[in-house]
Parts: sequence; structure tokens; C-alpha cells
Amino acid sequence: MDKKKVKLSVDLQCGACGALAHRGDDPPRFCPSCGAAFDRYCFQCKKRVEMFFEEWWPEEDECVRTYSPARRCPHCNAGLEVTDRQESRNDSNYDH
Ligand SMILES: [Zn+2]
Ligand SMILES: [Zn+2]
Repeated sequence: MDKKKVKLSVDLQCGACGALAHRGDDPPRFCPSCGAAFDRYCFQCKKRVEMFFEEWWPEEDECVRTYSPARRCPHCNAGLEVTDRQESRNDSNYDH
């Protein structure tokens, strides 16, 4: 009875649309909302880039871990945000 059991739930966050998917026994490989792959490969060194996770504790005995795709390659430090919508930001407001 005394033994504390931590309830761990794991979510995956899509790097393209930000949707959260619950990771159960059979983790999805693609975002259920937009179909983007959770796995990323570096374009420069061609290595698979692991997702990173953040943890938070809504209760003392409850842990939520959220995985998101890495933004930089840990091997060669190349940026991985190729599919981001923020590309449209550097449009035309340059006045050189
Ligand atoms: Zn998505
Ligand atoms: Zn790389």
C-alpha cells in the first residue's frame, strides 16, 4: 500500500502542426493530423535524429512526458526545421 506507483503517460508532439498524439503500446510513426513523420533525418549527415522529451508532473505521482522532434541535428548541428510554416515570415519586408 505504501509503495508509490508513478503513472507515466507519454505523448508525441508533431513538429509540423503541433498536434499531440498519445503514444500507446503501438506508437504511431506519423502524425494523425497532418501525416508528418515523427522521425527525422538530417539532410547533411543523413543520420537519424532522436526526438527529445520534456517532463512535467501535474501530480506528485503522475508524470507526463512529451516527445518532440529535435530542432537541430546533434551530430552536425544542422537546423532541421525544413517543414515549418515560419518560412513565410521572411517574405518581402526587406528594405535594403
Ligand atoms: Zn502534424
Ligand atoms: Zn546532421
